[in-house]
Amino acid sequence: MSWKIETCRGVLFLAFVAAACPATTRRKRPGVPCSTPPLFDRLHLLRLGTHKRTTSLLFIHPHIDSQSSPPFPSDCLADPETPTLSLLVARPSSRGSRERLVTSAMRAFTSPAPLAAARALLRALRFQQSLGANVANAANEARASTASGSGLAVAATRSFSSPTASIPTVPMLINGELVESKTTEWATVHDPATGRPLSRVPLCTRSEFDGAVAAAKAAFPAWRDTPVSQRQRVLFRLHALVRDRTDELAGAIVREQGKTLADARGDVFRGLEVVEAACAAGFLSQGEALDSVASGGVDCRSVREPLGVAAGVCPFNFPAMVPLWMFPLAVATGNAFVLKPSERVPGAAVLLASYAQEAGLPPGVLNVVHGGRDAVDAVCDHPDIASVSFVGSDRVGRRVYARAAAAGKRVQANLGAKNHAVVLADADAGAAAAAIAGAAFGAAGQRCMAVSVAVVVGGEAEAARFRARIVAAGAALRVGPGKDASTDVGPMITPGARDRAVAIVGATEGIPGAEVWLDGRGRRPEGAEFDGGNWLGPTVVALSPAQAAVGAGTGSGGGGGQATTTTKTDPLAAALAAYPVYADEVFGPVLAVVRVATLDQAIALVNANEHGNGCAVFTRDGGAARRFSREARVGMVGVNVAIPVPLPFFSFTGWRGSMAGDLHMYGRAGVQFFTQPKTVTSRWEWDETRDGARLLQRGVSAGSAAGGGGGDGGGVAAGGATRLPGLDRVGA
Ligand code: NAD
Repeated sequence: MSWKIETCRGVLFLAFVAAACPATTRRKRPGVPCSTPPLFDRLHLLRLGTHKRTTSLLFIHPHIDSQSSPPFPSDCLADPETPTLSLLVARPSSRGSRERLVTSAMRAFTSPAPLAAARALLRALRFQQSLGANVANAANEARASTASGSGLAVAATRSFSSPTASIPTVPMLINGELVESKTTEWATVHDPATGRPLSRVPLCTRSEFDGAVAAAKAAFPAWRDTPVSQRQRVLFRLHALVRDRTDELAGAIVREQGKTLADARGDVFRGLEVVEAACAAGFLSQGEALDSVASGGVDCRSVREPLGVAAGVCPFNFPAMVPLWMFPLAVATGNAFVLKPSERVPGAAVLLASYAQEAGLPPGVLNVVHGGRDAVDAVCDHPDIASVSFVGSDRVGRRVYARAAAAGKRVQANLGAKNHAVVLADADAGAAAAAIAGAAFGAAGQRCMAVSVAVVVGGEAEAARFRARIVAAGAALRVGPGKDASTDVGPMITPGARDRAVAIVGATEGIPGAEVWLDGRGRRPEGAEFDGGNWLGPTVVALSPAQAAVGAGTGSGGGGGQATTTTKTDPLAAALAAYPVYADEVFGPVLAVVRVATLDQAIALVNANEHGNGCAVFTRDGGAARRFSREARVGMVGVNVAIPVPLPFFSFTGWRGSMAGDLHMYGRAGVQFFTQPKTVTSRWEWDETRDGARLLQRGVSAGSAAGGGGGDGGGVAAGGATRLPGLDRVGA
């Protein structure tokens, strides 16, 4: 037989990549030959991979939906009536012509040997379905494949025989293979716009988790020793793949997370920028050196070495960006990585990991496992994991931080937020309200940098002016499914998250001093298909506690440029704590509005909050902006910028309750997090006897040359020739 599947690993990967790639992005992929025997007119060559002497070809029919597809060429398949997919894996003799490849492939197709490949492709296709690709549904595939009477039909029948077969499953990536979990516990990923199930994600078993860590541990030494320029080249290729397939990733994000397509593209792009920055790993991870730190040829250099196996735990709200905050920099600096995406939105992370394999990341350097609390506990406890990067809620993150730190790991945990935007009386009111509306309601408020509190500085007139603008801006936003180009505000992630936000608004409006200016409860798109969606429209709640008029501002440092004192006893903050919409991180499209009289009162309020992620000031007064920027005890400050997320040349610098750990994500701090300094002190003396010259005279008081002929016994500092090394060194 002239063909052979090289490895199951390779086929699984090819199958996944094939299934995940929409036809539009496939056609122009560079490096794929694209001419033209008749068969190739009808089939898209998805991938041509060569490993050792094996060439693997994977084709997929351009019109794979059986309802609309023309039949395959009659010489291609046994049954031309109902094909929905074609998997051809061929191993031609080297330099075989295309025709010979096709012949080989056709033979392969009718033999029982490619069953594993067929199963893998079918599984991947079902997963792709969950991401919205244009493939036939599982039942069609099963029917069609069964009808074909080929080996593939047998595979298909088996593949779809389980009772849950109609819901695709999400693969893990372990040691370079996309693998299906053997777990009995699964979570369901739902479309937030309809509530329909999209896929099942495994809660991986302990042995699968251990396998992922073991693969990372095994891959680490060779990857660490891979020259940094080669590591960078992998990242360059990953960058190109992510850029080229942005729409593919964004489509997956829209389906699983619910955000709009534009927002999903931004999600990918913000992550892509971190990949770009990680391509400079060689510059970023350089160390320091100083010659002659002691007499006798002693030099010292400090290098940054990777930690080993790093792990990352991600939230649901940025399915591409947050994984890209983590693993590119980790692997660029020589670590291996185990990624645990949010079980609510696993698709983008799996796609990214498959791209990384395609970009040339060796098997095991990046692994993806799925799960919930048990998987995260395993991340915290596993002795072979050196560091944990976490992004998520306060409740979980504080627990992760404590548990992983107790296990001796380096931890960076980005937590929740309550971001205030301060609008001064001199601000461009229209621009400020528009920016705040976008920051509060965009992405359905599910951003850790979302503005959740607007602080209007001034009197009744300023408050009324802001009210008119923010209500108009919020009301004008269109609530709908993310896939609809006219949508501004998509659904929230789960019914539970929506119900919680609605309950918070409900509990707040009953408290004196609360007034709902704009009510998004009940807003939803038309159509029965959206009945199961998690809808909440932009909502604005004004809060006027009685104390506000009285004691506000007592926490301030006052005028004269004094630093504002942080106080947990700021009376306005204490009064506002009675309102759930202010006290809780709603994480929905809900904005609280508070009025204060002075900038100092606003600063005091910002600083009294337990969170310190982001904040903003809107003003035309440079002095006021500078004062706010300097005195706000918040890690990311925007001046006339509502969402001041730093680009990856900097770091994501949340403070206080919004971050646990001391090394922030990405930027130089991110490099420091994923590397540890090692100082090497070395003594290399020039042995003058080598050239027959006179003996080296060392040291002020040395009576004779120390150390002798090439041994390591000589003392570094001056001293008697017979002294033991180290006796005269001072140090810890
Ligand atoms: P989450 O804390 O519920 O989940 C985060 C991760 O923890 C997920 O992978 C999840 O599987 C895991 N997890 C959930 N419950 C767990 C438990 N009991 N024990 C161990 N692990 C558990 O967060 P989320 O709802 O996915 O994301 C929203 C939160 O993330 C918000 O609070 C938001 O502010 C925060 N966030 C912060 C930043 C930042 O940079 N500061 C960025 C994005 C999101």
